Amino acid sequence: MKPRGVLLAGNWKMNHGPAAARGFFEALPWSGKEGAIMRIYPSFLALPTALDAVKTGGKKIEIGAQNFHAEKSGAFTGEVSGPMLQEIGIRQVLLGHSERRQYFAETPPLILKKTVSALQQGFEVLLCIGETLDERNGGQTLSVLTHQLESTLADPTCAAAFGKTLHLAYEPVWAIGTGVTATPTQAQETHASLRGLISRTLGQDIANAVRILYGGSVTPANFAELLACPDIDGGLVGGASLKPDSFGALWSLI
Ligand code: PEP
Repeated sequence: MKPRGVLLAGNWKMNHGPAAARGFFEALPWSGKEGAIMRIYPSFLALPTALDAVKTGGKKIEIGAQNFHAEKSGAFTGEVSGPMLQEIGIRQVLLGHSERRQYFAETPPLILKKTVSALQQGFEVLLCIGETLDERNGGQTLSVLTHQLESTLADPTCAAAFGKTLHLAYEPVWAIGTGVTATPTQAQETHASLRGLISRTLGQDIANAVRILYGGSVTPANFAELLACPDIDGGLVGGASLKPDSFGALWSLI
């Protein structure tokens, strides 16, 4: 068993409404695995159905939200707050995804605000970071990731939550939805550097406790090799999480 266990998380993005969500969970092959967690982040609209489907099916699958608003209520048209999510039984949120950064102009200060608010409201946060292809080719991978993480590492709420209710997903932007995966060597090097950064900032014990998931074109064909790397603690999966067969095949590799 991996020291931090394994988290296999699926990010459905803007796919699967309630009916498709129910069909997915009914068809998904699932069996308990010691120390491993399966989690899906459906759209807001499919959250109640997903919660009901896993409960009815007796499948211990965590259901999380892809986003939330940092304020608890107020004049924020179109947004969903933490208390609303908690009311229906959601305890996990995904934050900082590159699509939120790119298409919804989420900046590091905004992502920090959401992260702090989520942690203070008792959510577990999976925080995504990652560099673009130009940044990698320019040798800037680590400086970009450090910049994306530094305010989080410096914040007292986040610092106290790292390794407990705050974990990371390293998702190179050039690998998301492209069919190009980071090689196990590239991913392991980056994960080890991130763990080193956390260790230098918050100490080795916390660094050892933080799960760092890899995300970016994970499929059943490449997941085992990635998971064999010592600093890769699971996968955040987009495309291959949409079909019960492929997500079930990833789970069977754990
Ligand atoms: C993602 O969006 O988080 C992701 C990793 O997508 P994909 O697996 O499709 O590359």
